[in-house]
Amino acid sequence: MVTPPVDVSGPVIDLHSHTNASDGTLTPAELVALAKTKNLSSLAITDHDTFEGYEIAVPLAQASGLDLVRGIELNSRLLIEGSAQPRFVHILVYFPSRHPSEGFQSWLAEQRTDRRSRNAKLAKALQDRGVNITLQEVEARGRTLAGRPHFARILVEKGYVTNFEDAFHKYLGEDAPSYVERESNTTEEVIDLALQGGGIPVVAHPIRIGLARAVEHDVLTRFKQAGLVGLEVYHSDHPPALQQYYRVLADELELLPTGGSDFHGAVKPDTELGTGRAHNLRVPAEFLEGLRRFVQ
Ligand code: AMP
Ligand code: FE
Ligand code: FE
Ligand code: ZN
Repeated sequence: MVTPPVDVSGPVIDLHSHTNASDGTLTPAELVALAKTKNLSSLAITDHDTFEGYEIAVPLAQASGLDLVRGIELNSRLLIEGSAQPRFVHILVYFPSRHPSEGFQSWLAEQRTDRRSRNAKLAKALQDRGVNITLQEVEARGRTLAGRPHFARILVEKGYVTNFEDAFHKYLGEDAPSYVERESNTTEEVIDLALQGGGIPVVAHPIRIGLARAVEHDVLTRFKQAGLVGLEVYHSDHPPALQQYYRVLADELELLPTGGSDFHGAVKPDTELGTGRAHNLRVPAEFLEGLRRFVQ
């Protein structure tokens, strides 16, 4: 099958981006300014576990005429039959018109507390391996949302590893001896929490779950039965042929297609806001219209 070229007509929108309220490097103000420079008409801020960046950006976006969408990215745990190792599934949750419920907000606050205790354990595990690193140092970078990417930056700066990937490979990733797992809900539970909280749950970058196609099909069918609404079809990690594949799959499973660059700023310098990696994506504005229609 011949893959059609990326459609570059119409307004530019991006439904997946991070600020320095989580693990991105741009402030909310810088991200809004960049979105304007790139002529984006709509942008969703989808930081991990926090709305802080979105909330700071709201008045700035309003002042510059950018249509800003509230979103968040959550981690969840998936157990596959016959495999002892859990997989991790990122769920994007969009709130295009409703406010997240108080219950959802307090659940998020608990997530941040769990994250902090995981970080303390991870700092200790690294110290036990002879690494000179403290929790204070990590939190100075990541504040309330410090996470493994902040550990990774410090490991690179101190010369324990030569790059980010190496930091995960040797110290922070699931296969590293100092790995500390963060408590997380199952994917079905997170889908339910999102729906109860007034949001629209979407499976982010499905390719990163790392499943064979038949298993992925079964798993997404299961998630759909649990209330999943959307699938991130366009993402910087999805080459055009894969975008096409997920577009068809979303149709088949009656999931709303979504898309975004997963922009993080300087930590992922090859990923550009609105256009992805080497301009591999363009998100149709109708995807956002689909999300908005869903909550009407
Ligand atoms: P945390 O939420 O603190 O456990 O950190 C998870 C984040 O670390 C993810 O959202 C990714 O941005 C990043 N990450 C996880 N694994 C890797 C990896 N192998 N290479 C680079 N970044 C990674
Ligand atoms: Fe991230
Ligand atoms: Fe993600
Ligand atoms: Zn993301």
